[in-house]
Amino acid sequence: MSQKMEFQTEVRDLLHLMIHSLYSNKEIFLRELVSNAADALDKLRFLSIANPALLPTDTELRIDIAVNDETKILTVEDNGIGMDKEELIQNLGTIARSGTKNFMQSITGDAKRDVNLIGQFGVGFYSAFMVASKVEVHSKKAGEEQGYQWTSEGTGDFSVDELPKEKNGTKITIYLKDEDDCKNFSQDWQIKSIVRKYSEFVTHPIYIHSLDKDKKENIERLNEKPAIWRQSAKSIEEKQYKEFYELVSHEGSEPLAWSHNHVEGAQEFWSLLYIPSKAPFGVRYASENHKGLKLYVKRVFIMDDCKELLPNWLRFARGVIDTEDLPLNVSREILQSNKIVANLKKHATKKILDILQSVAADRKDDYAKFWAEMGAVIKEGFYMNWEFLDELKSLLRFKSTKTSEKEVVGLEEYVARMPESQKEIYYIIGESVSTVQGSPHLEACRSKGYEVLFLTDAIDEFMMQSLNEFKEKKFHDVALGDLEFEKTKEEESAEKESKKTFEKLCETLQKVLSEDVSEVRVTSRLKGSPCMLVRATGGMGAHMEKLMALQGMEIPKTKRILEINPEHEICKNLLKKAEAGEDLGSYPAVLYGQALLAEGSVLPDPAEFVAAMNKVLLSK
Ligand code: ADP
Repeated sequence: MSQKMEFQTEVRDLLHLMIHSLYSNKEIFLRELVSNAADALDKLRFLSIANPALLPTDTELRIDIAVNDETKILTVEDNGIGMDKEELIQNLGTIARSGTKNFMQSITGDAKRDVNLIGQFGVGFYSAFMVASKVEVHSKKAGEEQGYQWTSEGTGDFSVDELPKEKNGTKITIYLKDEDDCKNFSQDWQIKSIVRKYSEFVTHPIYIHSLDKDKKENIERLNEKPAIWRQSAKSIEEKQYKEFYELVSHEGSEPLAWSHNHVEGAQEFWSLLYIPSKAPFGVRYASENHKGLKLYVKRVFIMDDCKELLPNWLRFARGVIDTEDLPLNVSREILQSNKIVANLKKHATKKILDILQSVAADRKDDYAKFWAEMGAVIKEGFYMNWEFLDELKSLLRFKSTKTSEKEVVGLEEYVARMPESQKEIYYIIGESVSTVQGSPHLEACRSKGYEVLFLTDAIDEFMMQSLNEFKEKKFHDVALGDLEFEKTKEEESAEKESKKTFEKLCETLQKVLSEDVSEVRVTSRLKGSPCMLVRATGGMGAHMEKLMALQGMEIPKTKRILEINPEHEICKNLLKKAEAGEDLGSYPAVLYGQALLAEGSVLPDPAEFVAAMNKVLLSK
């Protein structure tokens, strides 16, 4: 006996909207049906623990999709839990789920806005009507005798009939609409690619049945690969992890390390996260290359490159997160403001930092190589968050005045090998190791045996703005004029003495160089060079100035302080000249120019410098 019934009003509105307003991304209907089928199989498997007789005897739990390009009919069948009459009416005639209810309450009647809304809520079974002119759901509940068929054209009503069915489970028959973007779903290659895209890792086998040239049925399994991340870490071999890395990363090289987790509790999810050993193409420079992770919901693929799951400064990481707690139809808008997603991101961040820390501790050489490739990206983390500052600090590695060619040093190690008299952590900023290595700014620390870190990444100067201390030791830029070490009484009086002695020279130099420097003074920090330029605290560094200039930004000219070495012969000679009232000629220009060159800065006017130098060379 056929029973005709009306859809609940909300369902009718939803269907209307789906049929008339949703034009894009129709393929997701298949993802929804396969996911429902997989759920039905899971439910049956669960019930069969208590009642094994419910399981099919002739075959495994499976999903079968059949296409027929002639009749334009597509079926999706499972041998799962099935539905009885009451369930067919309830589940497929009303809106039970809160997501859809909320959706219906948000409907405005403005078709354009509503289409956007639709993407934000799970639409489930009803999405079949995006492509179908008619849908039949033939089902028999496991453990019962009678089968039923639900039929609808997606308009006002549906009917339910008794219809014998041999096997338990549900078969959904879709009569595809005669429109170009609908009838194509009867072609097997289309269905294969959609299943591979969304349902590759569904645990139950999915088969596709299609007809070949001679009308013979072909059956092919579509999802061979079990979801590796859902298996226990103990059961997986290193080789399998590496193979899967190739699949998710499309990288030819091996991963540096990975982390495989199953988290249960308030939320349940699985994560398999990889750190590449080589920087993925372009990752250092452009944050558009932020690939992010793959997001799965209940084993169903949702999207690639989910940026919301990783902070930008870990954009080199690859992998998968599979959650039980998001709707299948989760949209970008939801991802951006969702607590579950925020929690997943925190998990991923922490795990990646954990793996990096253990690689840094156990595999120093590998870590040094990794750091050379991707350290600059991680450093972005310093000015983008405060949460992981300690972890980030422990990951930093530097070249320094004490590292050999292949070595790097971390802050932990740096502090551990500081001489007792050293109170701060010293660093120098510059363009490359070779330029900073020769800088006169290092002379004082070198003579004391204090290690100086070389900061030669473009981002370092920005990073230092958030890096104030490590283990209560302050960081100190050696190019600053306020750098001071503990001095003995003798040193102090000697300094006072030379300050007095050189007063005349300082005065003269300052007059001549007033365009370029704010002050000329004597220093005890130089051990080999005649002079250097230092910055007053707060002034912009030479390196930062250069970066800004490269960006085409206007830079306010901050004059620096020229410090001269009272022990150097050149300075002593010049002092004599100054005291005798002689003209210093080109000497001041050469001193200033060489201070710029020695620290790796660019001469504002090279020709002028060369001319000044030649005059000095010719003078007696
Ligand atoms: P959702 O799956 O998000 O709950 P749907 O609209 O897709 O929403 O489906 C509504 C309900 O119909 C499901 O919760 C389930 O109880 C039932 N259902 C749908 N498809 C099947 C199926 N293949 N086998 C058994 N029950 C099903």
